[in-house]
Amino acid sequence: MKQQIPNRTNRFYDTSRFGQPQIRVYHKKGKGKMMPRYLLKCGCCEQKFEIYYAEDGLEIGGVNGAIEDWREILLPLLMIRQPVGKPVDVKKKKKETK
Ligand SMILES: [Zn+2]
Repeated sequence: MKQQIPNRTNRFYDTSRFGQPQIRVYHKKGKGKMMPRYLLKCGCCEQKFEIYYAEDGLEIGGVNGAIEDWREILLPLLMIRQPVGKPVDVKKKKKETK
């Protein structure tokens, strides 16, 4: 698997693209037995977790799973649609439906 996440500038609290702080993404190549990984850091604080990846599996935040397994879990969440350029304000939406 090649590195597929586009390079980012990783500025702290960068809201220019998504209207909320952009996740900071760092990549590290594998060495010997160490799998390559991505380090994802919150855009607004020092919260972070790692994704180790291989041909046959991913370890996300310390949880191991087959690629297919992760696909079943993450894809429905990632496919949630919202109008382009208009981040959905969950709190506001709830108020409107009442
Ligand atoms: Zn944060």
